[in-house]
Amino acid sequence: LAKTRGRNGWCRYEPWLTEQAMERFELERNLRRAVERQEFRLHYQPLTTLDGRPFGVEALLRWRSSEHGDVPPDRFIGMAEETGMIVQIGNWVMQEACRQAQTWRKAGIDLQVMAVNLSPIQFLHADVVQQVAQTLRQTGLPARCLELEITEGALMQDTDHAEQALLALRELGVHVVIDDFGTGYSSLAYLRRFALDKLKVDRTFLQGLPDSASDAQLVRTIMQLGQGLGLQVLVEGVETEAQRAWLAAEGCRWCQGFLFARPMSATALAAWWPTDPPTQAIPDWQPQPA
Ligand code: C2E
Ligand code: MG
Ligand code: MG
Ligand code: MG
Repeated sequence: LAKTRGRNGWCRYEPWLTEQAMERFELERNLRRAVERQEFRLHYQPLTTLDGRPFGVEALLRWRSSEHGDVPPDRFIGMAEETGMIVQIGNWVMQEACRQAQTWRKAGIDLQVMAVNLSPIQFLHADVVQQVAQTLRQTGLPARCLELEITEGALMQDTDHAEQALLALRELGVHVVIDDFGTGYSSLAYLRRFALDKLKVDRTFLQGLPDSASDAQLVRTIMQLGQGLGLQVLVEGVETEAQRAWLAAEGCRWCQGFLFARPMSATALAAWWPTDPPTQAIPDWQPQPA
């Protein structure tokens, strides 16, 4: 019962409102003010080769609420989606991430990719392409440096829209990657149908590696599937040296995980990024145009 309250914006005290429901209502109220109060920040987690050399970053949203302290995205992104606030918040994220990427590039940081998470709500929005184009224009970031991460669910909700949006984004020069691959819809036909060229293996599959034979087989199969279809495959959630070694033996080239770097503030990222040019060329994460 308590779950249904709050969406239409009113709340009076009812004894049946559990403490948890009250907390949720408060969270939602404060989320509405978070943009204007400038409580959002972006953290950046390096995307690396298997030997830890960075070629890009993923922007990850952080909310420091004056009332609730640091609130993890898993606690507020869903709420922002249900209430529609994610469109405004997501536009801010894209703008800020692209601005930061262009600042870094001008400062000599060799960033091939700024990856930005797009909520299904944003992706299904009619003017998503226009929004992306405008952000690139305003920030000056080259389109090839922007990568949008969307989930399988976002593609499957309205496949005609998805197909058109992906083509238009490709036309702009922006890349789209399937995030959390393997956790969403089981239909694989869309991998052929849509203009996609990359996928990120969900980190839940990494957790049992290298000991779990079934997890190992799953990750191996996903990597082979991606490679067989000509997609670039990145594995997320690499935490241990044993996982890294296993992935290296399986021919994995790109990854992301706490083993190499955690998400960090813009200042920390700039200090962390290697200043020496790499001794070997970093394999190109951006697929070569066909
Ligand atoms: P995601 O897009 O799959 O992002 C990767 C998440 O995995 C991040 O969690 C990151 O900190 C975590 N991670 C990376 N490497 C490791 C590892 O080795 N071990 C473990 N245990 N975790 C690792 P975070 O920052 O808490 O974000 C959670 C999710 O919230 C994201 O998953 C994404 O779905 C969503 N999110 C974050 N920022 C945004 C945003 O700006 N917009 C939207 N729509 N969603 C966002
Ligand atoms: Mg992501
Ligand atoms: Mg992911
Ligand atoms: Mg995830």
